[in-house]
Amino acid sequence: GHRAKNSTHMQTVNPYSGEVIQTYSEHSRDQVYDIIVQVDRAWQSWKKTGFAERRQRMYRLADLLNERKKSLADLITLEMGKVNREAIGEISKCAWVCRYYAENAESFLQNESIPTEASESFITYQSIGTVLAVMPWNFPFWQVFRFLSPALMAGNAGILKHASNVPGCASAIEQLVQEAGFPKNVFRTVLIGGAKVKEVINHPKIKAVTLTGSTPAGKAVAATAGASLKKSVLELGGSDPYIILEDADIHEAVRLCVSSRLLNAGQSCIGAKRFIVLDAVYEAFKAEFVRLMQQATFGDPMAEGTTIGPLARKDLRDELHQQVMQSVEQGATILCGGYVPEGDNAFYPPTVLENIVPGMPAYHEELFGPVASLFHVKSVDEAIHLANDTVFGLGAGIFTSNLELAKELAEKRLEAGCVFVNDFVKSDPRLPFGGVKESGYGRELSVIGIREFVNVKTVVIR
Ligand code: NDP
Repeated sequence: GHRAKNSTHMQTVNPYSGEVIQTYSEHSRDQVYDIIVQVDRAWQSWKKTGFAERRQRMYRLADLLNERKKSLADLITLEMGKVNREAIGEISKCAWVCRYYAENAESFLQNESIPTEASESFITYQSIGTVLAVMPWNFPFWQVFRFLSPALMAGNAGILKHASNVPGCASAIEQLVQEAGFPKNVFRTVLIGGAKVKEVINHPKIKAVTLTGSTPAGKAVAATAGASLKKSVLELGGSDPYIILEDADIHEAVRLCVSSRLLNAGQSCIGAKRFIVLDAVYEAFKAEFVRLMQQATFGDPMAEGTTIGPLARKDLRDELHQQVMQSVEQGATILCGGYVPEGDNAFYPPTVLENIVPGMPAYHEELFGPVASLFHVKSVDEAIHLANDTVFGLGAGIFTSNLELAKELAEKRLEAGCVFVNDFVKSDPRLPFGGVKESGYGRELSVIGIREFVNVKTVVIR
């Protein structure tokens, strides 16, 4: 269920049952401008509050998330089809990031003295105002909370333009923030389609923008933000490579690689997507990998035993299948999956491809679903070359028992914003998160994330 380009209505559709959930009217331009002005006004007083006041509300927000974990998770599953167990985990992680910034924001944003010839000179981190957040549907709570918790703790205000298929999650988040005791307008949602984002960015009261989503959406937002000289942070797609060396624990590597590939039905920017395996262990890795992929049960995302639910929308499923089919027409081989199941839902089966060469969608594009691409290589150098031969640079993984080599490859040779050794990439409030190349720029989370949207102000007293 998606909105037609120029429609003023959004209809949400349950991707498991195919049934319409609800119809929403988009906000008009006047309503959007009204909201922007109200949020800016709320910021004028919010920026003057102390950390104690902000912290108390942020802890309350974490508590509310925990108290309502089940009903919020149900809403996620209803709107975008993720397995309910994973949705519950997502809400817990949101509570974690709220507590993390409640605890640490004050020390992250403390004044820092820098000795010079002056009698006093220091850095102070001041809020910048209202930040627009354009967010995707794949982790409809987490993506928003990792923006909103540092933003509000830094004294900024926020406007959320959520993906058009999750307006229920968007308004639930707005309501939670208010119930936690934050002033009514420091965080608001606007119900508009992607095409209307440009005029929001251009509004003089909007000071910066952050987007998580596809690379084309990121480029559009970056262009608008650049033209109006507003700071942007972009967390875009990925085609994360996982290198499996000869001395890896193959059993463990397969288990972790399959988990990462199937998490959220494969709809994660940091999902493991390309598996680059040294020749000597390729057949062993492949056999076990295909076996585990086929073991995954897909079905009702509310049911206990389900491993993967439907994709979030039928159009996304169809697009994924096209990428697979086009790769097959160009010579790729399907080891399992690779078909559209019957029924009025958005399922796609766990799929494994091999014999992938340059020119194929599976080589160059992000496959946003449960599709794995297997490659075999003769040497570590060839593995690194293949891993880096992409426009993306978000995460990467290395499986080996040679930790010295792993560290060298991770630090110096892989073009990625983060590299995990003997594990799959996960975001963590304590660690910076973001990419290089067309995976975007800027970082979220950790001390680095909260400092993206502040005025790093220098004060010198002669
Ligand atoms: P989009 O990137 O199009 O959507 C993400 C957000 O950006 C939504 O809020 C969307 O609004 C908005 N948006 C879209 N186009 C523009 C634009 N030109 N200007 C401003 N905002 C815009 O993702 P899709 O849902 O279309 O998914 C397509 C593909 O994107 C996926 O198959 C996947 O490859 C990638 N993707 C990556 C994600 C990640 O975590 N890195 C997350 C989601 C998708 P609206 O919904 O109203 O169009």
